[in-house]
Amino acid sequence: MNIPYRRFSEYQPVDIAKLRPGGSYKQLIEKRTHPIDELVRMHGRIPDDLLQPRNCPTCGSADAGPEIDKDHMRIVRCRACDLVYTSPTFDDAHYMEVYASQEYQDIVRDLGIKSHEYRVERFGRERVGIMARHLEAARPRFLDVGCSTGFVVEAARDAGWDATGTDLNPSAIEFGRSRGLDLRTVALDDAGFEAASFDAVSLFDVLEHLIDPNETLRSCVRLLRPGGIVFLYVPNYDSASRLLMGKDAHFIWPTHHLNYYTPATIRDLLARHGLETAYVATEGLDIVDYLWYRREVHGATDAGVEPIADLLQFFINAGAYGKNLRAIGRKPR
Ligand SMILES: [Zn+2]
Repeated sequence: MNIPYRRFSEYQPVDIAKLRPGGSYKQLIEKRTHPIDELVRMHGRIPDDLLQPRNCPTCGSADAGPEIDKDHMRIVRCRACDLVYTSPTFDDAHYMEVYASQEYQDIVRDLGIKSHEYRVERFGRERVGIMARHLEAARPRFLDVGCSTGFVVEAARDAGWDATGTDLNPSAIEFGRSRGLDLRTVALDDAGFEAASFDAVSLFDVLEHLIDPNETLRSCVRLLRPGGIVFLYVPNYDSASRLLMGKDAHFIWPTHHLNYYTPATIRDLLARHGLETAYVATEGLDIVDYLWYRREVHGATDAGVEPIADLLQFFINAGAYGKNLRAIGRKPR
């Protein structure tokens, strides 16, 4: 696997005050287990009959060993392909309910809508720039699946692309539409998009939430023209965040995060869909999250780390141990 050589001059810091306005991040962490809080209050755990074991979501094997227990749920590692995933899980109907719930709408409103403009500038333009380097079309046709408020769709539109987004969160879509974006509240397979009609399809922070990521990825690949790309963002299981905080790393969130990829297992996933890996990189927030955790959970100040946080994060990114994993797969021509 090729990991791109990174230069510090290209490092872009993240303004955490703009990304996570007010107490929105603390609220996210505090409300983390809201779908199971009532169950645990009543039963002391999640009743077995609500959970279903599942096979490996990449390779289908049923042979998995224990990895981590957290929030009354279990995370395992596939002995066949090494993917780490939550099993057992709730059923589809449960997750549909969670993501349509008022609590989740509130999380998205606080984290997503208030920071939309910052996300367009800082993340939307960066993601469009990365895709542009892997595309030849002068005006690419782009679909963002699970687009939230449409901050990447907006950056793509501003770059002159033909950009569309879908999401199941009505308040996020409504906000994006108010900014003139072509966003739709519809499931991907119900959207009626023509096969082989897009140059790029993205899944940002989507795959880790799905019981059957293969089904969604298959639909995305079907929508791609020959030579088109799929752009994935998922949490990186083999990240500095996990090495520093263990199972306290925030992204280890088994009530919501069902699949935990690494640079190796994401590349394996792309290959199983007939895609060539064109790009793999990771990007931080490990050190910022670590300092937050040390301060909020342990009351520690870590004064010496703060001034070198960006530099440390750069080293982590350069070594492909950043918390956010990005991968581009290309459909054969
Ligand atoms: Zn597997």
